[in-house]
Amino acid sequence: ALNQSLAELGGRFNVSFEFFPPRTKEMEDTLWNSIDRLSSLKPKFVSVTYGANSGERDRTHSIIKGIKERTGLEAAPHLTCIDASRDELKTIAEDYWSSGIRHIVALRGDLPPGSGKPDMYACDLVSLLKEVGDFDISVTAYPEVHPEARSAQADLINLKRKIDAGANRAITQFFFDVESYLRFRDRCVTAGIDVEIVPGILPVSNFKQLQRFATLTNVRVPGWMTSMFEGLDDDAETRKMVGANIAMDMVKILSREGVKDFHFYTLNRAEMSYAICHTLGVRPAVSAA
Ligand code: FAD
Repeated sequence: ALNQSLAELGGRFNVSFEFFPPRTKEMEDTLWNSIDRLSSLKPKFVSVTYGANSGERDRTHSIIKGIKERTGLEAAPHLTCIDASRDELKTIAEDYWSSGIRHIVALRGDLPPGSGKPDMYACDLVSLLKEVGDFDISVTAYPEVHPEARSAQADLINLKRKIDAGANRAITQFFFDVESYLRFRDRCVTAGIDVEIVPGILPVSNFKQLQRFATLTNVRVPGWMTSMFEGLDDDAETRKMVGANIAMDMVKILSREGVKDFHFYTLNRAEMSYAICHTLGVRPAVSAA
């Protein structure tokens, strides 16, 4: 029944893909191959991360430029506000606007260890960006609550502030407990948040790395998932298949629950995201022979 409903919905989904700036020549080749393959799926947009405090904003920008030139896709740089002054952020936003960038993923960024209360939160960055230009703005949402939040309710109010400041959609932290996403989406509606809460899908192939990352980000890795990956520590190929299967099940359930937009954390690799999109009916246009 799940596959039947997907076939009926086929082609009605919007997808977006997230990449990060590569560190080596080899990783750069992987990135561009992945962008070429995934761009054939005509994503609504693609985004490129910027590591707060990394000083690598120029690399993010140059990849964004490269994607625009190569594919013509809408390319959105991530921008953090924790590591720049308001004046600097204004200049960056003006530069982006004048180089034709119209979509920004607006973030606070992680606090460096030992730092005090930050001067700015993501909602302040959204307001600042809106003063510079009428950007399309994506912000984050945390179905399982951001690790620093005082409470789930405070975190939800923070999301509302970001939307009220002018953000156009929220992209969620990755999750594996679909129920937690669905409950969160309901709570957003109750709180008067009326934008898409786009699920962030992380296709998992490196389970050990995921466990570390999930602990840091307050994301629950369900027991069933641990047992799915059991015994595969030295078997990358099977892990990839298992990971793709988990993500395919998730997007099927989410699509049945009315989700139309999906954001993929690609980790710069096309294979799994491409396959998951294929099962959603998101495929390259077949040209008439
Ligand atoms: P905010 O929305 O500002 O929230 C941060 C925390 O502060 C929350 O706990 C919130 O409840 C709390 N809060 C908000 N306002 C107040 C207030 N006035 N008083 C007290 N508490 C408050 N990081 C990067 O460095 N680079 C990236 O490219 C990047 N991309 C990301 C993409 C996505 C889709 C996601 C989900 C995360 C990404 N991150 C990235 C990680 C992100 O920077 C961290 O999660 C960071 O800790 C919070 O950023 P935010 O924009 O969600 O913050």
